[in-house]
Amino acid sequence: MTVILDGKKVSSLILEDVKKNISNKKRKLATILVGDNYASELYVNIKKKRCESVGMDFELHKFNSDENQDKVIEQIKKLNDDESVTGILVQLPLPISYDTRKVLDSISPTKDVDGLTSSNLGLLMSNKETIVSCTAKAVITLLDNYNISSEGKHVVIIGHSFLVGRPLAEIFLNRGATVTVCHDRTNDLEKHTQLADILVSATGVSHLIKKEMVKQNTIVVDVGISKKNGKLCGDVDFENVKEKSSFITPVPGGIGPMTVAMLVENLSSM
Ligand code: NAD
Repeated sequence: MTVILDGKKVSSLILEDVKKNISNKKRKLATILVGDNYASELYVNIKKKRCESVGMDFELHKFNSDENQDKVIEQIKKLNDDESVTGILVQLPLPISYDTRKVLDSISPTKDVDGLTSSNLGLLMSNKETIVSCTAKAVITLLDNYNISSEGKHVVIIGHSFLVGRPLAEIFLNRGATVTVCHDRTNDLEKHTQLADILVSATGVSHLIKKEMVKQNTIVVDVGISKKNGKLCGDVDFENVKEKSSFITPVPGGIGPMTVAMLVENLSSM
């Protein structure tokens, strides 16, 4: 029997918990959005709703896609100095003309709610999990909620971005897993995926992971979000891969809602 890893259910329990245990300190999330990417606007609105649902304030700083990067950095520096702002989030992706690393590193590490500054990523590499990338934390927290340990397991992650694949690889290593990280230049992807006890896919390529690419009883986590024939879908061919998995996340309703809950949880601890 395959168990569906229900991110929607687990995330609402986490949000209820945050709401119950949050201290009286006023918290505010400042979000930077550059351009008018439809998906990014959608994600920002969901983040606003979830923050407000637990009594946190939300503030949006929106820029046109042709805005000079230095203006955005200037705004981030103002937010660093603003005592009413608890956390700062830069909604990714930024326009291709931007130096994403430079923009992220202008966030003060103590306000880096998504754990993406070089400083917080470095701490994670030293096995000090301070503020951890919300999506990476979403994956591990969902597994934890189903008592799935990664210790001693072979975890195969597809995707090597600073947002998902790399921080997640560090978290799994810190927990005693053996980790393989694949990407778009990996030769013979299937050879690697077939060895996975836990397979995490974060590419945005619709239905990249097919049934024949996983071994029986694999635990499958789908981080990817894309559209196929106008429908939201993930990296995993869910209906077919499900038959061979012991646990699997759906898209939507898996890692998406968990990521937002992790953002709120990170903010509540700042
Ligand atoms: P990215 O574009 O920065 O990285 C994509 C990664 O996938 C790269 O490592 C690339 O090498 C790899 N890749 C691309 N095509 C591949 C292929 N054919 N075979 C193997 N590897 C391939 O993207 P990202 O920011 O890391 O996000 C990845 C996906 O996760 C996207 O679909 C994004 O929308 C989604 N995402 C979801 C959440 C969530 O909350 N569910 C959060 C963040 C990102």
